[in-house]
Amino acid sequence: MIPNKIEHIGIAVKSIEESLKYYEGILGLKCYKIEEVADQKVKTAFMMVGETKLELLESTSPEGPVAKFIDKKGEGIHHIAFAVSGLADRLREVEEKGVQLIDKNPRKGAEGLNIAFLHPKSTQSVLTELCEKPNE
Ligand code: ZN
Repeated sequence: MIPNKIEHIGIAVKSIEESLKYYEGILGLKCYKIEEVADQKVKTAFMMVGETKLELLESTSPEGPVAKFIDKKGEGIHHIAFAVSGLADRLREVEEKGVQLIDKNPRKGAEGLNIAFLHPKSTQSVLTELCEKPNE
């Protein structure tokens, strides 16, 4: 597998509104979309940085995975997402190499992408997302 690029970096935040004061106010980035992903219990905010996005993740429930992440580790980098071609095949490929998958099959993520997560146990503790545009 060769990732095409870093699609985005996911950053866990307590409040998107508060965080944008830094990302927009200081760094001068522009949030172009805020989207809720109900099954992950998160609200996401996206900014482009060149070809790569930043994805801010704010939990919509104290039980959500991002809330639990912040409880354990505090705010900060949550995951890195690589754009790949042939996502379902890439998942089989890494699984055959012994990587533990969180998502056995691609599912719908934010931005209309098909996504799947690899377990941090298999990725030196960096939660890793693979994603592709549905038509690729
Ligand atoms: Zn992501």
